[in-house]
Formats: sequence, C-alpha cells, structure tokens
Amino acid sequence: MNCNIIKDLMPSYMDEICSEETAKAVEEHIEHCEKCQRNLQMMKQPTNNIQVMSKEVTVAKEPFKRINKKRRIQVLIAVMITFMMTIIGAWIVQDVGVVNDIFFPDEWGIATVPDDKEEWEGVKFNDQNYIIFDSIFWRKAIVNHANNEKNVLVRVKDDNDNIVIDAVQVPAGTSVKLEGLKRHEKYYIEIKAPQGRFTINAI
Ligand SMILES: [Zn+2]
Repeated sequence: MNCNIIKDLMPSYMDEICSEETAKAVEEHIEHCEKCQRNLQMMKQPTNNIQVMSKEVTVAKEPFKRINKKRRIQVLIAVMITFMMTIIGAWIVQDVGVVNDIFFPDEWGIATVPDDKEEWEGVKFNDQNYIIFDSIFWRKAIVNHANNEKNVLVRVKDDNDNIVIDAVQVPAGTSVKLEGLKRHEKYYIEIKAPQGRFTINAI
C-alpha cells in the first residue's frame, strides 16, 4: 500500500474507527515502513502534548481552588457574625428593659403620709424600707414624682440610724442628687409631706 494512503488512514486508525481489515493493512505497512512509523509517532506526539497541557492547567487551577476555599471560609465567618449580631440585636430589642435596668437603675418607692402632723415617713422600695445603690450606674438621686403635685422634704439615714442627708426640699416633678452616699450600703429614705400617698423614685 502507498505511504500516502496510509497517511490518510492514520487518523481513523489511531482513533480506532477504521475496519479491522484497514487496521491490519496499516499495521502491516508500518511494520516495514520506517517513514510511516515516524509519521505515526509524530501523530501520537500532539495527543501527549495535550495531556501534558491539561495536567498543567489542573496544576495552575490549584491556587485558585485554595483562594476559593479561603474566600468561602471568610464568607462563612461573615455569615456567622451577621447571624450572631442579629440574635444579640433581637435580644437587646426584646429585653430592652433588662439593658435599661442595668444602665438606668430606677427603683419605685411609695410613702404614705397618714395625716398632716409633719412627721418623717419612710419610703418603701419593693417592700423594703431601704435602698442599696449597688452599681456604679445609680445617679443617687431622689425624684419627687410629678403626679404627687406636692413638695416634699427628703432625708436619708444610714443603717446605724444616723442622718446622712437632712431635710432636702424636693419640689414635685424634680429630683435632688444625694451627695456623698456610698455604694453597697443600706440607706433609708424618709419624707416629710402633707397628707397623701407619694411616689418617690430612687435613680
Ligand atoms: Zn509507508
């Protein structure tokens, strides 16, 4: 068979799509023809090159894969932080009272003045007759609630029944800061006022 015919048949021979007879004929020719042997080798060559190239492409892709992995972790962390912030935000909004109590402590006190005898009456805070300014967030002030509509005199006694602040005038709807009070100590707030029921806040 002619070398040119073999050359023409070579691609289909290599792709194994020619008939068995053709394949046999090509093989027999190549066995005895050095030129066609070389041709076959050369034709095989590009296939190898393509394989090598595809390997290189795979290797070249590796750093990108790594970057993508790093990026994915960053995105995951961002998502987790956002999620946590949302939960914390929701908690603060829901329990704004809790936060408020911590940063703006406010104890409601009640004092009932039975008559106009002008005697000192103790203010009760949550069924306790004393108040403890137990955190740094207390402003240590006494508020004469606006609804009382009457001025009161306020005095403060300590746990040993000593008067630490004496007879401070507190008009209705105003507050007076109690200077010199210590944290963690029991203080007894007393008022002198006309007959009535008074709402007194410790803040
Ligand atoms: Zn040949």
